Amino acid sequence: SIPLGYFGGIGKAAREGILVKGSNFLDALSKATIIAFDKTGTLTKGVFKVTKIETRNGFSEEEILRFAALAEAHSNHPIAKAIKEAYGKEINEAQIKEHEEIAGHGVKARIDGTEIMVGNDRLLHRFNIEHDTCHVKGTVAHVVVNGKYAGYIIISDEIKEDAPKAVRELKRLGVKKVVMVTGDNKDVAEEIARQIGLDEFYAELLPEDKVRVIEELEKKKDPKDTIVFVGDGINDAPVLARADVGVAMGALGSDAAIETADIVIMDDKPSKLPMGIKTARKTQRIVW
Ligand code: ADP
Ligand code: MG
Repeated sequence: SIPLGYFGGIGKAAREGILVKGSNFLDALSKATIIAFDKTGTLTKGVFKVTKIETRNGFSEEEILRFAALAEAHSNHPIAKAIKEAYGKEINEAQIKEHEEIAGHGVKARIDGTEIMVGNDRLLHRFNIEHDTCHVKGTVAHVVVNGKYAGYIIISDEIKEDAPKAVRELKRLGVKKVVMVTGDNKDVAEEIARQIGLDEFYAELLPEDKVRVIEELEKKKDPKDTIVFVGDGINDAPVLARADVGVAMGALGSDAAIETADIVIMDDKPSKLPMGIKTARKTQRIVW
């Protein structure tokens, strides 16, 4: 039978906005020693804004933005949303003849007779497109029109206000290691890791690479260590399933993530994680 104290713990966590799907997860949370956070939508707001457009090969800024917005029409990725917002105009869906979203890369679409690609270095590499390698403060979305490099759009996100505090609190609670896993580029990852005070970061990862990082951490850990992964679920449902404890952000997160996760943070605040660990530990003391 399940000790009564657990129900108190789950109830207390729920009142704090932390939904724990079973007493075993509350127990595991109390022992958390290694925390891996996803970046976008988890440590950062996931609300991107277009901050700059650089053109190449005779294209204009307006053209690049229009092509990119059309290509991203069917995407819900935060980058896609930023591009569509910057474009600002109604999109006639009938023009979109083909659309493919390539996880961790970007999108490829056919707009009437024009082939458009929008995405990162990896996407362009995959299709052998010569392009600039940029070191900029922000996420880069390259735009390719009919196989020709048209330039790039810089999109920036901000850290959540309570993210640095969350990491400090986790350390205070004795968590050994706080890391970030992201599909974004190294420059962005390094800057975010510095602002938040993370121990380590792993950048330019595909969704399946994120699973591999968790497995590596699993291999290196002490038998007593418990690995917690926190994500918003856009492309990271497999990682949520793989970690000892999978925590999803519930407000902006995807339905798939909320379903897969063991624990859901209802208001998307990273500082709810140390709060949950504290509640879980108190519950342990009542139970035993
Ligand atoms: P994160 O790990 O930051 O949550 P994702 O795995 O969702 O990121 O995406 C990784 C990278 O893939 C993004 O930083 C971006 O470069 C590229 N990307 C993914 N989807 C899109 C898209 N719809 N449009 C442009 N680029 C995209
Ligand atoms: Mg994400």
